[in-house]
Amino acid sequence: MPIDSSTYWTDSTCVLRYLENKETRFQTFVANQISTILDQSEASQWRFVDGSLNPADEASRGMTGSELLSNRRWKQGPDFLMKSENEWPQRPIDLGQIPNNDPEVKSNSTVCANNVIGQDSISKVIDHYSSWNSLRKTIAWLLRYKSKLREAVRRSKSGMPLLSEKTVTPITVLEINGAESAIVKHIQQQCFGNDQVELRKKTSSIYKLDPILVEEIVRVGGRLHNAPIDIDTKHQIILPKNHHVAKLIIQYYHHQSGHSGLEHTLSLLRQKFWPVQGRTTVRTVLNECFSCRRRQSPVAKQKMAQFPEDRVTPLKPTFSFVGVDCFGPFEVRRGRSTVKRYGVLFTCLTIRAVHIEVSNSLDTESFLNALRRFIARRGQPEEMRSDNGGNFVKGEKELKKAINDWNQSQFTNFFCKEISNGHSTHLWDHTMVECGNGA
Ligand SMILES: [Zn+2]
Repeated sequence: MPIDSSTYWTDSTCVLRYLENKETRFQTFVANQISTILDQSEASQWRFVDGSLNPADEASRGMTGSELLSNRRWKQGPDFLMKSENEWPQRPIDLGQIPNNDPEVKSNSTVCANNVIGQDSISKVIDHYSSWNSLRKTIAWLLRYKSKLREAVRRSKSGMPLLSEKTVTPITVLEINGAESAIVKHIQQQCFGNDQVELRKKTSSIYKLDPILVEEIVRVGGRLHNAPIDIDTKHQIILPKNHHVAKLIIQYYHHQSGHSGLEHTLSLLRQKFWPVQGRTTVRTVLNECFSCRRRQSPVAKQKMAQFPEDRVTPLKPTFSFVGVDCFGPFEVRRGRSTVKRYGVLFTCLTIRAVHIEVSNSLDTESFLNALRRFIARRGQPEEMRSDNGGNFVKGEKELKKAINDWNQSQFTNFFCKEISNGHSTHLWDHTMVECGNGA
């Protein structure tokens, strides 16, 4: 069936307004949805259907199976589709404007060029950056732009043709230094003013630093004026207390020195800058340094589990519950040769008593012998714990195998005799069970 035209229906006037709008910019999600829709359809193909006539409601609101079976509108579409196009629902005559407070509308964030000139705008630019380097670079670009504009004005006034530059050269070190001075001048102007006489009065907040003004920059005075060293080093640039830029500069030196501590950062910083209440400010910056905090945070500790019953049961005889491990080897002389010997350490899990046996080697036989000697001396343990050492595991296997190999009927006879003799059977039962568990 050849298709001449398609019509799309929606019961949302809001969506129709969005689709027909050409000026307003929307938030990302809505903007993407609208552009997807308009890639595949024209805004004129979209028509309005009243919510009560919209069969899409059936799907979105849900219905039971029997309702679905008897529902004509879902299966065949709304009745008006069968009628001629004139009788289709008409869209409201005036959709109206998109309201200004619509949360999907992007607020107009264009910055006016002449706004940037204002004092506050420079502070805004400075506050925007969280890195001393990017701030310096940005200001350097702005200053370059400013000087180009000035140059252009000068040329046009004197009737010279304007220079046209095809390539943009990267920012130079000189420009970065210029930007640095410009930033420092700006913040000093804000915080101290630039009247040397005022600065040197006793009422000044930096009176104690004996401030001097060199090329419009407020610097520490001091007595090193005649020293043959760099001007930055003998007359450091004063940075206002707790200022954003001061923090950026401290951060910069802290990062440059590989996240060094307070004193080192401060000494590097003071080769050029003198932040008022420097130590406190540096400490604040260092405390806020995420990388340092992560590295210096205490090691996470495992919450230990509850002790097992055998560690906390005091009423049983010593060495009822035993932990076992091997240590060594030790070089031991035998005749003219040296041989290796190991220690087998048995420890009572309740009172931490220790019993040590010598083991000739790490093999199973030696361990079983050591175990036998231990039992002969200290009594039968109820339960033994060890790590997963080869000799222990194998020892346990061999014990199990040995028990299986025992003549079970002989045992039965033996126990029957013991019971009839009136002995306490408890101990024997007990031993059997524990042997059965394996050492
Ligand atoms: Zn750090």
